[in-house]
Amino acid sequence: MNDAHTHGHPVMHCEEVLIVLQTWIDEQLEEAVSGQVTSHIERCTHCDSEAKSYIRLKAALRRQRSVCDEVVVERLQIFGRRLCDGSLPDRHPEPPC
Ligand SMILES: [Zn+2]
Repeated sequence: MNDAHTHGHPVMHCEEVLIVLQTWIDEQLEEAVSGQVTSHIERCTHCDSEAKSYIRLKAALRRQRSVCDEVVVERLQIFGRRLCDGSLPDRHPEPPC
């Protein structure tokens, strides 16, 4: 048995968490979604470590004040898409950079 049921279940999958992870870290998710991400990450070591690497990367980039914030955000988004590539065949219709 796995818990991969989407219909009507509030439980998020790792793929979904990874998609919104940056937004979650930026605290710009809707409260309902944010709570689900939080509880997923509390239970999922994989997503927890992904979240921690995002946070570390973001902190590192923040320290380099020579780059502007827009560039930082863009690089994080590209990083995130690369993480999701391969496991998400249908979710990212945009061409890879
Ligand atoms: Zn997960």
